[in-house]
Amino acid sequence: MNLIILGSQGSGKGTQAELLSEKYKLEHIDMGKTLREVALLDTPFGKEVYEIINIKKELVSNRIINKLLELKLSSLNREQGVVIDGIPRNLEQAKYTEELLQESGRKLDKVFLIYISEKESVKRISKRWVCKKCKTILIMGKDIKDSRDKCPACGSGIEQREDDTKEGVKKRLEIFKKETMPVADYFSKKNLLAEINGSQPVEKVFEEITKHII
Ligand code: AMP
Repeated sequence: MNLIILGSQGSGKGTQAELLSEKYKLEHIDMGKTLREVALLDTPFGKEVYEIINIKKELVSNRIINKLLELKLSSLNREQGVVIDGIPRNLEQAKYTEELLQESGRKLDKVFLIYISEKESVKRISKRWVCKKCKTILIMGKDIKDSRDKCPACGSGIEQREDDTKEGVKKRLEIFKKETMPVADYFSKKNLLAEINGSQPVEKVFEEITKHII
């Protein structure tokens, strides 16, 4: 089985992709995470990606995304199903993702769009912290109480993502509306899209998603 998860910032798409990966033994392809790892590299490529995602807060070029996806898919066994999170973010990526899946002998079974309001998105992101070491997502007021707290999972220090500023979220939401929403329409016309209300608790969202998986 091969799935794609679309959703705006803070919609919980990463969490749902992780749950799907565990339940159905799928490889979780998380493009945002891959790019954040690349951005830590002390190389011209690492610096280029850092500048785009953390300073300009824009999308990385389709050429880079397509290459990274191609590398990832070709590194996997053909029988291994995938849940793709963070791609496609525009129409060109949508077409390329379909092509790459097909070339690697995979059928796209379903695309999920997890939607939340813009207000909810900004609210959730302002509370999102992450462990510096194990990268567990921690919610201020729920998992942690103070910015000086340690990660409950591994005891390391915590931080906020550099692109998770108020202005960063607003910019990424604009990009989502303009560039990624047409991707949802594209898959809807192909009868592959399921829209999921992301403002419910995590378990409810997951329950709704799995109802679409036969
Ligand atoms: P995310 O963790 O999904 O919020 O992604 C973090 C950042 O990585 C985004 O704001 C973009 O700058 C970049 N990024 C992630 N996925 C893509 C993609 N498919 N196309 C272009 N840029 C991406």
